[in-house]
Amino acid sequence: MNTKPHLGESDPNSLSVPQAAERIAAAIRPVAGIERVALRDALDRVLARDAIAPMDMPPYPNAAMDGYALRGSELAPDRPVRLTIVGSALAGRPFEGDVGDGQCLRITTGAVVPDGLDTVLMQEHVTRDGDVIEIPAGTKAGQNLRPRGDEFSTGGTVLAAGRRINAADLGLLASLGIAEVDVRRRPLVAFFSTGDELRGVGQTLAKGQIYDSNRYTLHALLRRANVNLLDMGVLPDDRDAVREAFRTAAETADAIVTSGGVSVGDADYVKEIVGELGHIDFWRIAMKPGKPLAFGRLGRAFFFGLPGNPVSTVATFMLFARPALDVLAGATPTPPLRLRAVCTDRIKKAPGRTDYQRGVLTQDADGRLTVSTTGGQGSHMLSSMSRANCFIVVPLESGDVAAGTELEVMPFSGAL
Ligand code: AMP
Ligand code: MG
Repeated sequence: MNTKPHLGESDPNSLSVPQAAERIAAAIRPVAGIERVALRDALDRVLARDAIAPMDMPPYPNAAMDGYALRGSELAPDRPVRLTIVGSALAGRPFEGDVGDGQCLRITTGAVVPDGLDTVLMQEHVTRDGDVIEIPAGTKAGQNLRPRGDEFSTGGTVLAAGRRINAADLGLLASLGIAEVDVRRRPLVAFFSTGDELRGVGQTLAKGQIYDSNRYTLHALLRRANVNLLDMGVLPDDRDAVREAFRTAAETADAIVTSGGVSVGDADYVKEIVGELGHIDFWRIAMKPGKPLAFGRLGRAFFFGLPGNPVSTVATFMLFARPALDVLAGATPTPPLRLRAVCTDRIKKAPGRTDYQRGVLTQDADGRLTVSTTGGQGSHMLSSMSRANCFIVVPLESGDVAAGTELEVMPFSGAL
């Protein structure tokens, strides 16, 4: 990696990515509301209170294998042992009688192991002749038994508040008989595009006009974040229109996300109006794509003014807005997965900004992680994002990177 001193693209007034993320994290507070939902509706919602085990899990000692249940004290290290089968215990059909000395039970996986028995032998490990089984010398006691409460005891914490509920969590709660859970209210997020040049899909473009793609990526990114959406359309580059729309959004939304209008161009009114109606921190961030980012408050709503270039919009959403919206939703922050992979491409870069190149992370036949860039990386080229499954992070001070260099990658992990 070439890190020789170089003026590059460094800007003394810019924040690093972690600095900006920290400032946002320090400001965000979760929404207060709690609602009780049926278990099926809890998928992707955030637990508002710890889920507590109302019973032991498993609720009774049971067999981990199909085979024979017996007393381990019957087994001998130096000779085979013969036991008589006196009945059977099936899943859902416990054995109700007594198992005496020299006796055992036929048992299936999940069936109750009666009191006094402590060992289940796999049927493949014994030989059976009529009602008698023969167990080889040296068979160990205590095998294949799932003791009562070995996963959870009554009153134990099953899932902690702040957990975003996944498919396995739903099953886990169901296994404990929990039919409803308390989850945080979903935050309501209003979003806009800004720009006189923007037209909706389906409209005809005049010279100098482009389609508004950011409202589609933001809609989808916000859906992935499982928030409630308020699509407020496209704002023209006009102070009064921007002011009016921001006032309206701030009346109901918990967060407002905009794209465009936060640069230093003549028609960039977003930060000015947020500053006038509320409070704004405007940052230049030492990253590429996505230099300008506005963050602040409009009434009780948190405000995220993302840059307008389509790749910058997505990248800054994923790196800053999404983690913040997760906290707003009450979720416990989880640091993103960061892996190391050998980059098969040469990357051209000037020192001074951390580069989030769009990459395709794969595993070669030896299990080694390799990553390649998705080609053209212009911040207007959404195809670079569309083909990618990760960011390739090229450090702030790095210059050009030779092919074959190991770099950090951040898998998108379902956020895109
Ligand atoms: P801005 O941040 O408003 O200066 O916009 C930067 C670039 O992104 C300009 O080329 C805009 O035309 C483009 N852009 C802004 N908003 C959108 C949008 N919603 N969809 C597609 N491109 C956009
Ligand atoms: Mg604009």
